[in-house]
Amino acid sequence: MTTSFKIAILGGDGIGPEVVAEGVKVLRAVEAMLTGLRFDLIEHSVGAGEFLRSGDPLPSATLERLKDADAILLGAMGLPSVRWPSGVEMTPQIDLREQLDLFNGVRPIQLYHESHTPLKGYGGPHGRPIDFVIIRENCEGLFSERLTPRPAGRDFETDTMKITRRGAERICREAFQLALNRRKHCTLVDKANVLPSMAFFRKIFDEVARDFPTVTTDHVYVDAMALFLVQRPESFDVMVTENMFGDILSDLGAGIIGGMGLAPSADLGDTYGLFQPSHGTAPTIAGQGIANPVATILSVALMLEWLDHPETRRGARFITDAVSRVLANPDHRTTDLGGKTTTTQMGNLVCQALT
Ligand code: ATP
Repeated sequence: MTTSFKIAILGGDGIGPEVVAEGVKVLRAVEAMLTGLRFDLIEHSVGAGEFLRSGDPLPSATLERLKDADAILLGAMGLPSVRWPSGVEMTPQIDLREQLDLFNGVRPIQLYHESHTPLKGYGGPHGRPIDFVIIRENCEGLFSERLTPRPAGRDFETDTMKITRRGAERICREAFQLALNRRKHCTLVDKANVLPSMAFFRKIFDEVARDFPTVTTDHVYVDAMALFLVQRPESFDVMVTENMFGDILSDLGAGIIGGMGLAPSADLGDTYGLFQPSHGTAPTIAGQGIANPVATILSVALMLEWLDHPETRRGARFITDAVSRVLANPDHRTTDLGGKTTTTQMGNLVCQALT
């Protein structure tokens, strides 16, 4: 009997379609290695390009079709030249998180090769490893009122840091659950010394911690975390934080393992799962065939893990092992890592390394 999974494919804008093509190539290669499994891939147009075509970056008919899929693979969305009248860019990827209630932003930060990191003494046989996961609350925090209509012509604007008990509790539970399956340490990143919303978040984190007595915890202010991620990233296992802090720390995390082209992500809810590289559309390198597809390929591995079938979990391991093997060879480097490997060549290398 064959089990089939329906996967929605959203290439999006900029380098999105280029990196997604490599992710799909690897997915197809893995599918051929698995037993009794089929992936039905359905492409949809969403993003700034779709806005220019139809006037809506995320048509409601498309959103409904996404709800039919077992998982969503997304490239990147938005272009600096395509903006709403208010001046902000279109961000259908954020809209999707809110509309599908993908509250749990999972951003694994793992160093694959010592030559990728700008930090000294990390990676390789004798260096310290970098291997932690940022859990970003995706549906509230400082992004919560970004779509609230504002009166025109005011001499001020405000954004609200909204933390609800439900939102904080469910994201902390996800973080602790993940820590249980890792090195059993969970760090809350907040700004509880200054912001009442963050003191509230801390109170709930501490309450949830009592349900996970085998997980050790600490609290780190977000400004200190920016320092510690450079000084001692090896000391972290799972960290949980609000939306905007998670957004910023994800880029810092990517920076210490070699850049945005190596950082995958999963946006998960109770019903839906969306997988995408942590990077944006990188318009300055789009169309040149030089974008690093590894973040997208690793996002495909996260998707297979999440689909939670014995064969998809096996497929996820095939991909992460293949990526490790490819990146172990210093000749295999895209331009962001100082090499000459093209986007397509990197996808081919990962396919060849699948065993
Ligand atoms: P967003 O606001 O959507 O996050 P951004 O333009 O601020 O987008 P990115 O698109 O993530 O940020 O790009 C940040 C930097 O990383 C740019 O210099 C970009 O060229 C580079 N970059 C991002 N993704 C890749 C990739 N896959 N391969 C190579 N370089 C990348």
